[in-house]
Amino acid sequence: MLDSLPELSILRRSWSEYAAEGSTHAVRVHEVVIGGTEPVIIAGPCAVESLDQTLNIARAVRAAGGHLLRGGAFKPRTSPHSFQGLGVEGLEILAEVKRETGLGIVTEVMDPRLVEAVARHADMLQIGSRSMQNYPLLTEVGRAGKPVLLKRGWCATLEEWLCAAEYVALGGCRDIVLCERGVRTSCHWSYARSVLDLNVIEPVRRATPLPILADPSHATGQWRLVAPMSLAAVAAGAHGLLIEVVESGADRARLKSDAEQGVPPGILAEIVSGVRAVGGGNEG
Ligand code: PEP
Ligand code: MN
Repeated sequence: MLDSLPELSILRRSWSEYAAEGSTHAVRVHEVVIGGTEPVIIAGPCAVESLDQTLNIARAVRAAGGHLLRGGAFKPRTSPHSFQGLGVEGLEILAEVKRETGLGIVTEVMDPRLVEAVARHADMLQIGSRSMQNYPLLTEVGRAGKPVLLKRGWCATLEEWLCAAEYVALGGCRDIVLCERGVRTSCHWSYARSVLDLNVIEPVRRATPLPILADPSHATGQWRLVAPMSLAAVAAGAHGLLIEVVESGADRARLKSDAEQGVPPGILAEIVSGVRAVGGGNEG
């Protein structure tokens, strides 16, 4: 099956600029290594809503043993009437929280015109599911000189996803991390938002040297499902997780996006210790 993938001139396993055949290309993000021996936990709010909220969550992420902070300043929302993120103010909040906590920042960029501005504050640029086939954006992000987290489009085949990564690589970027975030099926918004496609992890690892993360938050849409799916993803070979977190005691009704899927800090701490126990054999 993998033989039928298109010619990936850069991302193929045997390309000598990458790690030796059969091993993973480790991606360094603000002193954290993704694709090494330890599963990496990137956690934080769905959206940056205020300095207080982001700082509280970042401190909780740090205390739980998380490695990097995620949080959206520019939010891709289905409805144009929904909260779109704080924009540049959100980037400034993330920079302030990085100064306070020392956590590196992972945040989404949606607009090719804003890549430079986002790259000034981010340690890793996230391409969201909806943007996976925005080719001008992929090209621009590939030229930005920062590691890239490339989420899978929720209907994308493995081939389309890897071709998207190849666009980023053609811009010059070698530090690309893939992220499986759920594919849409008949379950949509009944018991869960999507299906976390754990089947894809091994073929991705076989096809390319890129590390792969799983995002059980957007895949499930339900915070109670996040811990078990986190353990399952690491058992299936994921190099780490992207997890949404809410403040301790948060009033979910007041959250501006993805209110039902953020885990409380206590659950995040359980996930971190759980995946350490499961994910010892992550190398290679
Ligand atoms: C996110 O991680 O903030 C996000 C919007 O996720 P996705 O692009 O996977 O929907
Ligand atoms: Mn979200």
